[in-house]
Amino acid sequence: MSFFPKIRLRKEVEEYLRSAYHNSELLATLGEEEAEQKFLRLQNHLSHPPAFTTVRVNTRLISIENAKQLLSEEIHKQFPSVVIPIYEHHQLNNLLLIPVVGPRRSLKQHPVQVIVGAQCGNAVLRGAHVYSAGILSASKWMKVGDEVSVYSDVEARCKRGATEFDGTKVFVGNGISELSRSEIFCSNSPIKGKGIRMTEPVYLSPSFDNVLPGYIFLQNLPSAVVSHVLNPQPGERVLDMCAAPGGKTTHIAALMNDQGEVIAMDKIANKVEKVKQKASVLKLNSIQAFCYNSTKAVTPDSGDSQGPGPPFPPESFDRVLLDAPCSGMGQRPNMSCALSLKELTSYQPLQRKLFSTAVSLLKPGGTLVYSTCTITLSENEQLVAWALTTFPCLQLHPQDPRIGGDGLMGAGLSPDQLKLLQRFDPSLAELHDFDINDGTLEDQDRTLLANTDTIGFFIAKFVKQG
Ligand code: SAM
Repeated sequence: MSFFPKIRLRKEVEEYLRSAYHNSELLATLGEEEAEQKFLRLQNHLSHPPAFTTVRVNTRLISIENAKQLLSEEIHKQFPSVVIPIYEHHQLNNLLLIPVVGPRRSLKQHPVQVIVGAQCGNAVLRGAHVYSAGILSASKWMKVGDEVSVYSDVEARCKRGATEFDGTKVFVGNGISELSRSEIFCSNSPIKGKGIRMTEPVYLSPSFDNVLPGYIFLQNLPSAVVSHVLNPQPGERVLDMCAAPGGKTTHIAALMNDQGEVIAMDKIANKVEKVKQKASVLKLNSIQAFCYNSTKAVTPDSGDSQGPGPPFPPESFDRVLLDAPCSGMGQRPNMSCALSLKELTSYQPLQRKLFSTAVSLLKPGGTLVYSTCTITLSENEQLVAWALTTFPCLQLHPQDPRIGGDGLMGAGLSPDQLKLLQRFDPSLAELHDFDINDGTLEDQDRTLLANTDTIGFFIAKFVKQG
């Protein structure tokens, strides 16, 4: 069923990830062949988009019914020739599911070709148009108004400005050129802006950039699970340590009915502005955002509090979310990843420092949720194993809702401990061609598909003993 080739990875990275799926604990249960199949399925899924685009509705400002209606109108504007249904997720309040229709296997390809970088190709599969900065090569004769076929340069071999490209390329859809070749590559003043308006992407995935601001929020399904697992209560003081762009911060504040204090920190200033903007658009007054290096967010002793912002005295928060910076290997679609092994494995020390700060800042009896959007053992289950040894005050806690699978074997955690983790593992889903007839899918099957065919993600919940 695979439409695209599996994700391209550097050899050393592929071997590193494979070794996680071939660790001795897992091999003893699955056997060599099944472990390899699981790893191959994972690689295949990573190059394809998840089965649904998921949107969280801000029900403080709009009802689900109204949001569905306005979204339907927007989707119809973007894809007038098809009717794309919108479903509610039955376990996650306020989350809407929009099927990603495709792959459209019968699209005709045009002689005028445009090659784009792999990141740009991934964005096209998520509903983006092609901007001139992402274009690497265009046929010699390409002019404004031409019907063109767009390909992703998955091996990063195409030279910018080339007229032809013989390397490996993956077709991502058709569009109309809004700029000529010379306007894109003119050496004096190349024109910036939209280069190709995509009319027939291989996957129909609506773009929600600036659509219904304040009413809806684009959020991957596992990310929408995290704030529920944290379970913040009105009136509490909650810390989101790595908050930008603010998807989970705003969800946390909404779950608290905007009552209490949500402190959001991120170390990148312009990203913090985004958190502030989101809080303001969503009319959430309980959020305060600060630009700060969260590894330094705890004062040396409890007398040193200086004001509303960081650093904070130890044991200041009822709940802490650490949605950690990570290698991002669970993101989909991702047809090509240029990360070196050194980069891939560089996150662990920072994650552990941030985690240690989180434990200090948490009140006894408080809840700490750790999450990543990656699939490596070292950033997920091994972090948990390290945390349980390093901080005897922490206990793993059951998660609600429970939508993902168990943790992956290989980090020395017991079967009971693995059951307390949630790993969203795309290798567990069936790759699915979604056509409009899938409107007939039974609710239960649709929910199962939405819950399994997600980005790769990991969640662990700890409680600090009093
Ligand atoms: N929680 C966010 C959301 O749901 O929208 C996504 C967070 S993203 C996975 C990780 C964030 O950590 C990035 O925005 C990055 O800038 C931030 N970050 C990295 N190192 C940090 C540090 N030392 N202190 C604070 N933030 C940091």
